[in-house]
Amino acid sequence: MYKTLKISTKSRSQMVDITQEVAFAISESGVNRGVCRIFVPHTTAAVTINESADPDVAADILMSLEKLVPWGDNYGHTEGNSAAHIKATLVGPDLTILVEEGKFLLGTWQGIFLCEFDGPRTRSVFVRVDEA
Ligand code: ZN
Repeated sequence: MYKTLKISTKSRSQMVDITQEVAFAISESGVNRGVCRIFVPHTTAAVTINESADPDVAADILMSLEKLVPWGDNYGHTEGNSAAHIKATLVGPDLTILVEEGKFLLGTWQGIFLCEFDGPRTRSVFVRVDEA
């Protein structure tokens, strides 16, 4: 099963919890045991898994990425969003999650996040669920 999630982001940098959307896609697929693959087809957005219980964790991740890769620096890319490209590469465009008994095997505190680095925009997240 293949599906595209459309996610509207609200600020330049934001981590959007998409755990429930992915859980729904897995449920829709009817796959009992397999693999869920998630891919973001963007150069200034990414996906990751981290703590979703405390929203301060996502805020701290974004703050630390901003320190590592400041928006303004001596970049060559004339579009002016090099920091977003660099953050997207650091975090990465894809995830693979195991599915058992029709549910993903995430840890208790883990959530799936779309990471926006050059918003606000509407982003696509490709989700594929296969029996394995
Ligand atoms: Zn650019």
